[in-house]
Amino acid sequence: MKRFEIITLFPKTISAYMRESILGRAQKNKLIKVKAHDLRKYSKDKHKKVDDTPYGGGPGMVMSVEPIDRAVKKVRRRGNTRVVLTSASGKRFTQQDAQRLARYDQVIFICGRYEGVDHRVADHIADESLSIGDYVLTGGELPAMVMTDAIARNVEGVLGDQASLENESHNEPGSLEHPQYTKPEIYTRRVGLKKEELRVPEVLLSGDHSKIKAWREEQSK
Ligand code: SAM
Repeated sequence: MKRFEIITLFPKTISAYMRESILGRAQKNKLIKVKAHDLRKYSKDKHKKVDDTPYGGGPGMVMSVEPIDRAVKKVRRRGNTRVVLTSASGKRFTQQDAQRLARYDQVIFICGRYEGVDHRVADHIADESLSIGDYVLTGGELPAMVMTDAIARNVEGVLGDQASLENESHNEPGSLEHPQYTKPEIYTRRVGLKKEELRVPEVLLSGDHSKIKAWREEQSK
């Protein structure tokens, strides 16, 4: 079973999403386990403080190295583990990272908050720093969930049909999935006083598998 450990100040934000749909089923089937760990539990401070003011001055608070170090040590299991710091300034996470990280037995995510995390975490505790895009969120919980979701899809057995993965967008860098359609063949809708018919491309109704394959390949470019 592949394990995802999410170290966060807000563990309750994680569980609802992870219980539903494909990830929920994968957890029930013991293919994956997603666990949120409350960082405050690893603070030695009597008020459970986990941050402090930045050296050199500046606004806001920075998350301290010690509780994070203690949390990572505690949740790390024997085996093949990768520690990922969520960071707006990290390397951009891609589908290839999802495929690569799916090969570890355990992925530990560190979720930052406030102004970010003491850089010693990036330099000495995390194996890599990953960003989900060029924008700044208030915390690392959504990035950790986004990455967990994308990685879990690549764990064998999580998707009912492994073929879903092969045709998916970004499976190869730059490749995109062809457009998909389902019933009805013609969908009629009103736009103001007019009626509009939205039709499924004819080739998909032709039953000619080589033509369909060629059309899909063309659309994927
Ligand atoms: N001051 C930091 C900067 O300018 O890069 C931003 C800190 S942000 C408000 C707080 C935390 O949210 C970060 O430490 C990181 O864990 C997470 N975060 C924000 N945006 C992110 C992104 N695009 N990808 C991954 N993590 C992100």
